[in-house]
Amino acid sequence: MATYRFATVPSGGDRIVYQDGALRVPANPIIPFIEGDGTGPDIWRASVRVFDAAVALAYGGERRVHWMEIFAGEKSNTQHGTWLPDETLDAVREFRVAIKGPLTTPVGGGFRSLNVALRQTLDLYATVRPVRWFEGVGAPVKEPGKLDIVIFREAIEDVYAGIEYKAGTPEAAKVRDFLVREMGAEILDQSAIGIKPVSEFRSKRLMRMAIEYALTHGRDSVTIMHKGNIQKFTEGAFRTWGYEVATQEFADRTVNEADLDQHGGHAPAGRIVIKDRIADAMFQQLLLRPSEYSVMVTQNLNGDYISDAAAAQVGGLGLAPGANIGDGVAVFEATHGTAPKYANKNKINPGSVILSGVMMFEFMGWTEAAALVVKGLETAIRSGKVTYDLARQMAYATEVGTSAFGDGIIAGMRK
Ligand code: NAP
Repeated sequence: MATYRFATVPSGGDRIVYQDGALRVPANPIIPFIEGDGTGPDIWRASVRVFDAAVALAYGGERRVHWMEIFAGEKSNTQHGTWLPDETLDAVREFRVAIKGPLTTPVGGGFRSLNVALRQTLDLYATVRPVRWFEGVGAPVKEPGKLDIVIFREAIEDVYAGIEYKAGTPEAAKVRDFLVREMGAEILDQSAIGIKPVSEFRSKRLMRMAIEYALTHGRDSVTIMHKGNIQKFTEGAFRTWGYEVATQEFADRTVNEADLDQHGGHAPAGRIVIKDRIADAMFQQLLLRPSEYSVMVTQNLNGDYISDAAAAQVGGLGLAPGANIGDGVAVFEATHGTAPKYANKNKINPGSVILSGVMMFEFMGWTEAAALVVKGLETAIRSGKVTYDLARQMAYATEVGTSAFGDGIIAGMRK
């Protein structure tokens, strides 16, 4: 076991173990949490009560989470003089499943983003974002309920790998020089240069995870979103490798869209359809024909864009959960930021972290607790007593604060 200077390992809890490619979750797991900055404490206070209530109701005292606070962000910097202590990464590695609130990205710090650092250091290679509509929530489209997708976004490479050279620097000049002289590229002098690495290994493991998810969650298709018509050797290869995983590793469980004609236009029973769409077309498809899409796999940048667009389509960021998943380790998180103007006002919507907790319970196999949280949230929204962001989009709603919304979710689990 790692030693912890800032965090305290709770007594009475056990570690989640990863063995033979599967998680073994004890009845009393230790789960590290990062409270988060800005509105993080308000959100966490409400969320943890919802999680504990769901577990208590689902398992009648036979299971209980032992929460272990770990530190990152402003709170960590203020209390311990470091934005991201090594022991926080150790704790996630050791205890396997963690959950976090939003973190401030330090301006001018030693790294670009705490979230990117967490993903890259722990090799949490899939950013997973389910997007669905909750009945009653106001949305900018006429039929938001037709959208129900899970986005798997590559989290390590693409233009997010951070390989960039500033215009006017000797490094940029050296890279340009090589590309112009050795490779025959045409690049203007004084250009900034960014590199987009896309590897077979990382593309394939993401596709594998997405197909496995679709198969175990009864989803009917996996769509590869890419810009391969223009970026042939990066985005185009991502598409090719995606199809290769389907045909070489899941031949008896998948069928390519192009081959559907051979099966009367429908996927044979027990198989999922693998298809691909060019990124720009994908944006309009999600708006115009949302029900034709289920699981989506994309590179890092396209995934970033489509996640927010999809969340907006069903009513916004307040109910958009996320997870950063690697092999046998995962950090669940809100997709929104710290919303600092609402900090300590008991105002913000805790729904994003609460739904991230639903993903966490599902990942752990605690599906009964997950279902209770969803039921509680649906009931709370139907009651019309919701936080400001939802209230302003609903016709007959009463605005309540963060903690009262949490109370409503807990009460809703029993209805
Ligand atoms: P933000 O914190 O996401 O807030 C932007 C707006 O989104 C808010 O003003 C609010 O809109 C709405 N919003 C955010 N969270 C909400 C919630 N829980 N419920 C309802 N509405 C919510 O984005 P930002 O102001 O650009 O970023 C602030 C800080 O967060 C920055 O330091 C940034 O780096 C960081 N950040 C962290 C993460 C992360 O940790 N995963 C992600 C993104 C940004 P209204 O004003 O319309 O109510």
